[in-house]
Amino acid sequence: MRASQLFAPTLREVPAEAEIVSHQLMMRSGMIRKTASGVYTYMPIAWRVMKKIMNIIREEMDAEGGQELMMPGVQPAELWLKSGRWDVYGEELWRLKDRHGRDFCLGPTHEEVITTIVAGDVKSYRDLPLRLYQIQTKYRDERRPRFGLMRGREFIMKDLYSFDRDDAALEESYQAMYRAYTNIFTRCGLKFRPVQADNGAIGGTASHEFMVLAQSGEAEILYCSECRYAASAEIAQSGSDQESNKEEAKNREEVYTPDCKTIDDLAGFLKISPEKTIKALCYKADDELVLVLIRGDRTVNEIKLKNALACLDLQMATDEDITRVMGSSMGFVGPVGLKGVKILADLEVPNMTNGVCGANKKDYHLINVNPDRDFSIDQTADLRLAKAGEPCPECGGKLLSARGIEAGQIFKLGNKYSKSMGAKYLDETGREQLMVMGCYGIGVGRTMAAAIEQNFDDDGIIWPISIAPYHVVVVPVSDRSEEQVQVAESIYLKLINKKVETVCDDRKERPGVKFKDADLIGYPLRITVGSKTLAEGKVEVKVRSTGEVHLVEVGKAADFAEQLLKEL
Ligand code: ATP
Ligand code: MG
Repeated sequence: MRASQLFAPTLREVPAEAEIVSHQLMMRSGMIRKTASGVYTYMPIAWRVMKKIMNIIREEMDAEGGQELMMPGVQPAELWLKSGRWDVYGEELWRLKDRHGRDFCLGPTHEEVITTIVAGDVKSYRDLPLRLYQIQTKYRDERRPRFGLMRGREFIMKDLYSFDRDDAALEESYQAMYRAYTNIFTRCGLKFRPVQADNGAIGGTASHEFMVLAQSGEAEILYCSECRYAASAEIAQSGSDQESNKEEAKNREEVYTPDCKTIDDLAGFLKISPEKTIKALCYKADDELVLVLIRGDRTVNEIKLKNALACLDLQMATDEDITRVMGSSMGFVGPVGLKGVKILADLEVPNMTNGVCGANKKDYHLINVNPDRDFSIDQTADLRLAKAGEPCPECGGKLLSARGIEAGQIFKLGNKYSKSMGAKYLDETGREQLMVMGCYGIGVGRTMAAAIEQNFDDDGIIWPISIAPYHVVVVPVSDRSEEQVQVAESIYLKLINKKVETVCDDRKERPGVKFKDADLIGYPLRITVGSKTLAEGKVEVKVRSTGEVHLVEVGKAADFAEQLLKEL
């Protein structure tokens, strides 16, 4: 490719709306252009990178028995009504009507479509396992599209769906995809970490997210300093520092605690540590009021809470709700004597002795409250937000925090969709069984953006070699020197003959512009043809990632570059 023909309009200025490095560099290097909020055009350089990522994905999916197909982007509402997701997917589902007024959506994911097809065409255990995938444009009307390709409303995703006979077979499919994902992100040259993830909303039994480690990542990861435990902070657990309680239960008393509305107010007023208090929070879960109890110094993790309650909608109750149902006001709510409201407690609460909680009466709290004796708990669950510094739930080591970009996620779905969409098969004994499913996604654009977040410097992008748009740029310093132009052209043609992906910067631009663009676009090697070195019959070969410079004879430059690329 000749740079004079390459459509890569570079910008010197950083566009104001680009907050993170990958967005800035993709705009500046002419890789992407915004067409609407969260909707981008992939320009030629970006598309080359994305095609490389997609090829890596294809190879790894095929290696694990995946078969590629292509489903429609437009999906009829009936399928979503059947799975029960039409009403619960919310505003992210991009809905539209056809000319007859029938409801459709633009596919954000394809469980409904693929399961319907498999339900219709697969009948026997002999046809399983089945692993079907596509690489396709997805639509999600995100509340806050941002960070360029990181969170778009239209984006390309690889999604694979596995269909198996039973849980043991699903485990094999899951492990196959876990391996494939590990290979994909390794081959893309990324530093990443698979972490345990939430599978609440999609409804399943296990999930991992593949997190590309980067400061700009929207996700927090908690991982152990000692063992392999790593989880998304959304669902991470931590060991408790709770001591086994030998304290004797004392008599419960009501105390006057004026204006003590927060745990800190209360602990300060009573001169106790917040660990002694039982925090009571009122939530509305699908319109039912629940009281959630947790140790005063802890924070409720609302994702865990939502999963524990198996509800679709979860909100804090309003002051009015609390007064109406519990007859007390916010800040003084407690479990003692409470009737008609479900009480859900974090795992630590049943072991507390002589705790302090609200008295359901303005300006009063109860001291020496003991679970079981003074109130009963309807359900206990791990509801606590784990934090860095706390003990690892598996080995007691220390939890550390890191930020990550979720580039892929794998889920065990179980039979949620095979049940609703009727995907059954006959086993060896002729009995009808539900298929057991998994689903596995990778964002192609997000992976490219994540690669940039991990590999850049002040001058631009430093591509991992496996996904670099081109491998070499040949730059004649002066377009007016016929000798330089000719030498550059000859090296360029030699490299092209060797099938090395090369750009010759034949533009009539100042050398500074060419060098800046070469660094910005991030060609792994730059061969500079300038008068000084040419006087000795040499050219300069520079490695983008290390800044290393080699002086090489003109006649050997192409071979040298080819060899050097193999070592990168
Ligand atoms: P997030 O939590 O970031 O919104 P998600 O968990 O909803 O993502 P999945 O349904 O797991 O996303 O989709 C699989 C993959 O698709 C993600 O791991 C990510 O790489 C990509 N992806 C999801 N949403 C977007 C988006 N809005 N823009 C770009 N890529 C996305
Ligand atoms: Mg996800």
